[in-house]
Amino acid sequence: MSTVKFPALTLPDIADLRDRARAALRSVGADPVLGDLDAPGLPASTPITGEILFRVAESTPADAEAAIAQAAQAFTVWRSTPAPVRGALVGRLGELLTEHKSALADLVTIEVGKIGSEALGEVQEMIDVCQFAVGLSRQLYGKTIASERPGHRLMETWHPLGVVGVITAFNFPVAVWAWNTAVALVCGDTVVWKPSELTPLTAIACQALLARAAAEVGAPAEVSRLLLGGRDLGEVLVDDPRVALLSATGSVRMGREVGPRVARRFGRSLLELGGNNAAVVTPAADLDLAVRGIVFAAAGTAGQRCTTLRRLIAHRSVADTLVERIATAYRSLPVGDPFSSDTLVGPLIHETAYRSMVGALEQAAADGGEVLGGERHASPEACYYVSPALVRMPAQTAVVHDETFAPLLYVLTYDTLDEAIALNNAVPQGLSSAIFTTDVREAERFLAADGSDCGIANVNIGTSGAEIGGAFGGEKQTGGGRESGSDSWKAYMRRATNTVNYSSELPLAQGVQFG
Ligand code: NAD
Repeated sequence: MSTVKFPALTLPDIADLRDRARAALRSVGADPVLGDLDAPGLPASTPITGEILFRVAESTPADAEAAIAQAAQAFTVWRSTPAPVRGALVGRLGELLTEHKSALADLVTIEVGKIGSEALGEVQEMIDVCQFAVGLSRQLYGKTIASERPGHRLMETWHPLGVVGVITAFNFPVAVWAWNTAVALVCGDTVVWKPSELTPLTAIACQALLARAAAEVGAPAEVSRLLLGGRDLGEVLVDDPRVALLSATGSVRMGREVGPRVARRFGRSLLELGGNNAAVVTPAADLDLAVRGIVFAAAGTAGQRCTTLRRLIAHRSVADTLVERIATAYRSLPVGDPFSSDTLVGPLIHETAYRSMVGALEQAAADGGEVLGGERHASPEACYYVSPALVRMPAQTAVVHDETFAPLLYVLTYDTLDEAIALNNAVPQGLSSAIFTTDVREAERFLAADGSDCGIANVNIGTSGAEIGGAFGGEKQTGGGRESGSDSWKAYMRRATNTVNYSSELPLAQGVQFG
């Protein structure tokens, strides 16, 4: 993949980005010690220029032990605090997030390179889930079940679980924290958060706002603890038996390491791992709508969403038209500074991401794929701006089965809907999927038990951009976890089945007689 002569990118100066980050942190009341570049500590970098902004204090494994102990202690108070009172903390957090929405979005753009509108959308997602959790705090219900015994009541009650360890990925540095934390807190759990080592500043800002909300409503500060650093800190959460639930978001590789380790100590895990999402476009599709949905899902966030569209499964009769229209749209997508209001595609997170895109494109070409786009834009050496790539593949080869975390869309063709569904389901991941069609039979077939095998299956909407009201997550190597809306809260609580005998007899279940 070559660097082609696009007009040179105009990028902000690192000094401006530092000022902007400092101002955002100050406005949310976070006052971290921002060390010089050569001071020890965790580097806080920006993919916008590929440079280090500051260094921040890095947590040690001993800090992680202490944080777990504090959260476990706070749990003894928090679990007995009435749920609607717990909701008041999350409600206040939601208000503070609303008040500081633009500062938080600035930090998301600086650390991850998301364009302004998507960064604001990510912060909005935090606000939405706080509102959801406040409502939930008055709706944590159990069932009453008909007992087979006279004078008996059978019911389920839901109790807080304990300390929830939350490990998050770089690409949704704040929303995934909020999905977990807002729900865990109203459920009566306390949280220890280990964000991606690539996004410490957004984490510091969110933690500051939660600490302020806790102080204002009189909740223990230790309901939420933050650990800044790499996977060694995550591993402390993985192995500590006081962490009742480990909610881990990231690559399949990470989940493969974490899942069995948590299971070995009989802990619970909630895994939200990689996706390899497909959209089927049938001859009955509204192609205008499909092209718009596909371009956003495949190129938005520079292809760095877990739900990014990575495979287009087009009916043979529409494939040429679709490829032509998507390629035309791709050529007009402005790539560059994510703070510029014209930009639609910001930078890749780092060199490794760029190298894996180059490697996947080379492999796809070697497999007979026809590559359109995917060029790197001329820019300083340490930052990576690419045009989205479209690759027409003769078949679904091994490279198509991998999640390449970049804007790379493989195009496959099909003749029958059965074939399209088989292609959709042929990869090891099972996060998101979509069908574009105006034919209700095709749509319903895609959503049926023998249709898409993914946790998310959409009709006439792309694979990305889920709302918080639904349960979010995927099957197979995506890990099986569900977070955010619907009844995902049950993952954060333990269920007790209670039988109450209010009679003066002692009948045994199943008619058993004993003496
Ligand atoms: P990553 O797996 O490199 O890191 C994710 C987090 O796990 C980081 O905080 C990291 O420090 C930690 N970690 C890594 N190895 C660990 C270990 N052995 N023990 C404990 N912690 C460990 O992922 P990334 O590059 O930050 O994010 C991109 C990946 O995340 C993609 O695969 C994407 O699809 C996935 N993702 C999934 C979802 C989802 O909801 N399914 C959401 C966002 C991102």
